[in-house]
Amino acid sequence: MMRYTRCGPIGKLALCFGAVLALAGFGSTPGAAESLERLAIVGGSVVDLDGGAPLEDAVILIEGERIAAIGAAGDVAVPPDAEVIDVDGAWLIPGLMNMHVHLGLKLPGKMAFALAKETEGELTLRMSHSARLSLESGVTTIRLPGDDRHGDIALKKAIAKGEAHGPRIFSAGESLVITGGHGSEAGVVYYDGPDELIKAARREISAGASWVKILISGGIATDGGGIAEALMTPAEIGAVIDAAHRFGAKVAAHSGSPQATIVAVDAGVDSIEHGYFLDRPTLRKMKRAGTWLVPTIVVSQPATAPFFERIGSPQWYLDRRDSVGKEHWKALQMAIEEGVNIALGTDQLPHEPNDGTTATVREAQYYVEAGMTPLEALRAATIEPARMLEADQDIGSLEVGKYADILAVPEDPTEDIKALRDIRFVMKGGRVYRDELDR
Ligand SMILES: [Zn+2]
Repeated sequence: MMRYTRCGPIGKLALCFGAVLALAGFGSTPGAAESLERLAIVGGSVVDLDGGAPLEDAVILIEGERIAAIGAAGDVAVPPDAEVIDVDGAWLIPGLMNMHVHLGLKLPGKMAFALAKETEGELTLRMSHSARLSLESGVTTIRLPGDDRHGDIALKKAIAKGEAHGPRIFSAGESLVITGGHGSEAGVVYYDGPDELIKAARREISAGASWVKILISGGIATDGGGIAEALMTPAEIGAVIDAAHRFGAKVAAHSGSPQATIVAVDAGVDSIEHGYFLDRPTLRKMKRAGTWLVPTIVVSQPATAPFFERIGSPQWYLDRRDSVGKEHWKALQMAIEEGVNIALGTDQLPHEPNDGTTATVREAQYYVEAGMTPLEALRAATIEPARMLEADQDIGSLEVGKYADILAVPEDPTEDIKALRDIRFVMKGGRVYRDELDR
């Protein structure tokens, strides 16, 4: 049995990364027959996302990008040619999934000023850098509900081809903004009325988007107007959802408004983003319809205040953010009580430092503080987003046939979600991107 080449502790990550890339045949087409290396992760406990007892002293056998077998040591034989990664008592969970990310995030203030002259090439490279950091932080799948100039689609293709490193990407292309609505800024192209919105949705889908993003109410980041105002008309909302669904694409609606949300849910919207001012009747309606809520709670809560200082947010922005904090929190608590489908999303870069951890982990921690059990929060960060994406046959849990997107943490996150603060090992598609396990 060949032993896995151990990577060094923190500080030798670059070396580790290089070594693993060499092993995995970097540059070859992922999934190609010749790249079916066999790896076995041994010595860990696999968390049961259905709430059962963990699988202790587990063996996860990986062939190429996917899990070929999983079971207790003794039940699953490790083939003699397999590389062995001993995780030595760590807890194994699926890669985290963050469903509201803008890799090209540009917020008002100093940050927007610094990026004002960013070219398309610079934007795409910045997004690629953020994608790599996201992955290394333990986020193996992201959904991008609105990035500029199709950098998201270029990056998604590059990552799928192995030309760039980052999470699996599900993308909406560019957000569809109505004149004067949320997202208004110099240079934005507006779409008004059902016909223009239908055409824009079709254009994004044909460019490679599998989601369409609409902004149906006001928002924090656009100066002026109420965040809870229902700005898009029912005819516009209905038309764009119908057009997207006909092409097999899903629709994500930015909404802080109960009224706009009700219209969108009736029209069959797939996900509501943020939901700052959602009330109980609206949440019950979402529950009945199976509509997803992507809370992005981290944006409006105290832990994120230092981030906005760091990026030099203007006072009007900070005031608008503060104005939604309490209601947003109440809406999240009610959504959890009502059993609404929740998929984790941050509206921050997944790896953005936040309260001593990352925005993604802090978001999951907030879910527990708002009423979820640790297991529910872990599900909201893994299998639930996979269900929302209808990609749960491929990702979201550690099962035979799914991609080997695997994290290791020293403690059991279903006991205490804060275990996610200490991600030591990151694998995506059978390839190790980080290994800081003590051995
Ligand atoms: Zn957003």
